Amino acid sequence: MNMEDICDLAPGYIRGIAPYQPGKPIPELARELGLDPDGIIKLASNENPLGVSPLAMRAARQALADAARYPDGNGFELKQALARHYGVEMPQIVLGNGSNDVLELAARSFLTPGLEAIYSQHAFAVYPLATQAIGATGVEVPARDFGHDLGAMLRAVSTRTRLIFIANPNNPTGTMIPGAELHAFLRELPARVIVVLDEAYNEYLPAELKVDSVGWLREFPNLIITRTFSKIYGLAGLRVGCAFAHAGVADLMNRVRQPFNVNSISLAAAAAGLDDREFVRRGFELNQIGLRRFAQGFAQLGLSYIPSFGNFVSVKVGDANGVFQRLLERGVIVRPVASYGMPDYLRVSTGLEAENERFLDALRQSLSA
Ligand SMILES: *Cc1c(COP(=O)(O)O)cnc(C)c1O
Repeated sequence: MNMEDICDLAPGYIRGIAPYQPGKPIPELARELGLDPDGIIKLASNENPLGVSPLAMRAARQALADAARYPDGNGFELKQALARHYGVEMPQIVLGNGSNDVLELAARSFLTPGLEAIYSQHAFAVYPLATQAIGATGVEVPARDFGHDLGAMLRAVSTRTRLIFIANPNNPTGTMIPGAELHAFLRELPARVIVVLDEAYNEYLPAELKVDSVGWLREFPNLIITRTFSKIYGLAGLRVGCAFAHAGVADLMNRVRQPFNVNSISLAAAAAGLDDREFVRRGFELNQIGLRRFAQGFAQLGLSYIPSFGNFVSVKVGDANGVFQRLLERGVIVRPVASYGMPDYLRVSTGLEAENERFLDALRQSLSA
């Protein structure tokens, strides 16, 4: 058998998967253009520009010394910290190798070929990927003003619908669904449809916009909420995320999960970083500064952008691929979002103040080049 015949043995829905396109790593750009990696800035993956919380760093170092042992497969210490922090019971928690992992666990626990998962146009790329990897059918509902159209999503529910993925705030658009609308949506939805509410950017919301979504679990047994340590907690490279759900649902997802899906260093770092309030506060405030600066900078350049509730903004630049390439040549990595159906836009994460200035400067030069 030649290689093509071997690959034909995989189901069509696997062969049809379009790979996830990650942000370009700094060392890769340095290699490709012969640039000094220290001179490159990356505003492409919504990472925390402040780096790793000092508390998380210390815990990770300590855990490294014990790396010969398997991790705690039940993640007791981290679950205990999460339970206290969020007011849930430990059996309601599922830990993941990034929240990407728990999103897949939700899909693998509830979807089969023949069933449907609904998500919005311009929503996070992992939802169609997780759906397709199972051979289930993805149903993409057109967005309204780049955000979720909850009315249309409700109307898209069929007898085959089993899951609905919602990112709030959404990536890459930065749009947010007000809590009251989301709550009304959950009330109208048939209880046999499970909602995966992805709140990766929750910590970037100002206090007055936050709602007690975790508290909604008491009302909705068909709700799964996911959170991540990759964004404001600054641990993207360690891969830790979690889901909160009804204990029965969490139990199912925990059966599907690999026994040691979160490594011991990541478990320790996340448990220590969770309550580093000072670090989270600084991350929040720096992002507010960045969002304001981008709004001002884009206005000066005459560019329109989607007002964002995350730590990134999608800005309309016209020839996005050309501008992206010219930014790369200037050592600035941002994210093209053509694969999200936004070919005229680039998504840029807020950085340190100096990084924001360098990006805006490079953008000005790249638009006219
Ligand atoms: C970044 C992001 C995540 C987090 O992914 P991890 O696997 O936890 O790193 C989840 N959902 C959305 C919408 C995101 O943008």
